[in-house]
Amino acid sequence: MSVNRDADLGWAAGFFDGEGHVSYRRGYPNKSTGRVSGSLIAVVPQNIDNVEVLEHFKSIIGFGSIGGPYKVKTNGKINRRFEVRYGVNEVEELFKILRPNLREKKTADFNRALIQYWTHDPKPTEEDFKRTIKRNKKKGCPECSGEWDAFICKKCGYIA
Ligand SMILES: [Zn+2]
Repeated sequence: MSVNRDADLGWAAGFFDGEGHVSYRRGYPNKSTGRVSGSLIAVVPQNIDNVEVLEHFKSIIGFGSIGGPYKVKTNGKINRRFEVRYGVNEVEELFKILRPNLREKKTADFNRALIQYWTHDPKPTEEDFKRTIKRNKKKGCPECSGEWDAFICKKCGYIA
């Protein structure tokens, strides 16, 4: 391996150590099967003026996709963010590349997320239902988009 490749990999791991996040996520119970899907995601967000840094990271890793701009509110100010993201089929490979140079904290984060994913149980939990209700409340009534409690709409009478 070339000196540059080593330096690049060291830089990429340091960048992820500082700015990256990896997590396991549960979906919402499927309407017909009731099963909950499991997923993995790794992201590194950056402000709009740092998008080349994300391109550089992606080119060292050799894969990944850059998304944005996303509007985010920080301290009452709206910023535009980009992120490089790795999906469920990419996180393990990303970890293999970063691992030799990654610090303890993010190594533990990858290990935790991967174990949670490998031991994913599709049976919906109480927490899954709570999240679903919260999401449905936020979405509003599916019929009239009116405010509702995720069970019955007081405006149009729709029942979930
Ligand atoms: Zn309604």
